[in-house]
Amino acid sequence: MRASQFFIGTTKEMPNDAEIVSHQLMIRAGFIRRLGSGLYTWMPLGLRVVRKIEAIVREEMTAAGALELLMPAVQPAELWEESGRWEKYGPELLRVNDRHDRAFCVGPTHEEVITDIVRRDIRSYKQLPVNFYQVQTKFRDEIRPRFGVMRSREFIMKDAYSFDIDEAGMQQSFNKMHTAYTRIFDRIGLDYRAVDADSGSIGGAASTEFHVLADSGEDAVVYSTGSDFAANVEKAVAIATGERASATADMSRVATPGVHTVPELAEALDVPTTRCLKTLLVVGADEKHPVVALCVRGDHELNDIKAEHLPEIAEPLTFADAAAIKQVANCDAGSIGPVGLTIPVIVDATAALMADFVCGANENGAHLRDVNWGRDLPEPIVQDLRNVVEGDPDPTGTGTLKIVRGIEVGHIFQLGTTYSEALKASVTDEDGKPQTLQMGCYGIGITRVAAAAIEQNHDDKGIIWPRAIAPFEVVVSPIHAAKSEQTRVAAEALYEELRDAGFDVLLDDRPLRPGQMFADMELIGVPHRFVVSDKLLAEGQVEYRGRNDEEATLLRREEALEALRKSAS
Ligand code: ATP
Ligand code: MG
Repeated sequence: MRASQFFIGTTKEMPNDAEIVSHQLMIRAGFIRRLGSGLYTWMPLGLRVVRKIEAIVREEMTAAGALELLMPAVQPAELWEESGRWEKYGPELLRVNDRHDRAFCVGPTHEEVITDIVRRDIRSYKQLPVNFYQVQTKFRDEIRPRFGVMRSREFIMKDAYSFDIDEAGMQQSFNKMHTAYTRIFDRIGLDYRAVDADSGSIGGAASTEFHVLADSGEDAVVYSTGSDFAANVEKAVAIATGERASATADMSRVATPGVHTVPELAEALDVPTTRCLKTLLVVGADEKHPVVALCVRGDHELNDIKAEHLPEIAEPLTFADAAAIKQVANCDAGSIGPVGLTIPVIVDATAALMADFVCGANENGAHLRDVNWGRDLPEPIVQDLRNVVEGDPDPTGTGTLKIVRGIEVGHIFQLGTTYSEALKASVTDEDGKPQTLQMGCYGIGITRVAAAAIEQNHDDKGIIWPRAIAPFEVVVSPIHAAKSEQTRVAAEALYEELRDAGFDVLLDDRPLRPGQMFADMELIGVPHRFVVSDKLLAEGQVEYRGRNDEEATLLRREEALEALRKSAS
């Protein structure tokens, strides 16, 4: 491709909503343009990246036996009513009416549509297993679209759906997808981790998330130093170890004027935060108990997801307002404690092991010290309520936990019969009996992968694309070609040689100063660069520089292709 015939839309303008580096760089390098909140155009340069990611995904899906189809983006409401999700999905589902006033949605995902296809077209066990996939535009009316295409409203997803006669088959299909995903992210060249989204949790269908590791990631990912346990922090089970010590002192009330937070409390009473108990009042699920108290150790954080999954607690987790707190605990939020409360008190397993602890006295400006479960208040209801922290033991007992940030780029899930039952998708088995289909679903956020790759690979000059998904693999940059026929011809010849050898080459034939040409190509993130100039030609040389190299190297002109082959392998 010749740059003069392409569109290079690099810009100095920086949108003020671009909080993370991938969003900034995608705009500055001219990969995307914003149309509206969570809506982006993929410019020619950016689309090349998207297409390369898609190509790798398609190859590996095909290799794993999946078949590509393409479903409509707009889906009739009736199907979603059949699955029960028309009610359940909430405001993330964009609902529209057509001219006949029939209701539709713009698909955020395609379980319903694919199950409808399969219930009509797949009748016999002989047609199984089957795995259909598509690469298609989804719409989710995200509550907070942000970070550019990382969390947009419209985005491209690869979604695959497998159907099997039994659970063993579904597990096999799932394992095949696990392998395919590993191959895909290896080939793209990302540092990622496969994370069991249900690791350690009781029951629940198997589900694995694929996270690209990056500091800006929205998810916290936990892994073990001693086993292959890895989980999303949202789900990772916190292990309480040790035994509760015996009480050593009587409970007493201390004045703590102006103390509202755990750190303030720890300092005022000169105790570690691990001796303080944090009590939070939340809305209950049951009318009989409209407010429930949750306690965690002072240095721990409440895990909202674990909390809202408890039957006693309303979902989504909602904190009690000041009036409700006053009514139940007779104080403000900073002075609540479990002693004397007449509402259900649920305590995190680690907090339940505390002895001689400090907590709010349910009276502003006062706390209680040397409080002990079972002595000063009843033995608590114990649950896993907290986020794991670094250094916690892993659930297998063989290592400790580490936490890193991750960007979820893929998710594979064993759905079982949830949709096939609701939509009555069954086949006849060998004995002629109907069997409800066992289903799996498998997503990759194609456009999010592009953003995640940038989060992981950039410097102060711009993007450093992994070669497999770079918009161009190599650029040939002639210096002052407008003034030198010799340089122009030599650059053209090198461009053709590299192109004919199978490389995706850009010839930067724009009439620009060298500094500007180089800066553009570094911003865009082209992994390899050759410079051609009169001065170099006089010595029979070209200059080579890898995007990550400290310095350029001089090569004999005839060695250029071989050198590129070596650096690019
Ligand atoms: P998240 O927790 O990030 O909202 P999700 O659990 O809703 O993701 P899935 O329904 O599993 O996501 O969708 C499959 C994949 O689609 C995700 O792994 C992610 O890569 C991508 N994806 C989901 N939502 C978005 C979005 N708003 N913008 C871009 N990509 C997305
Ligand atoms: Mg989501």
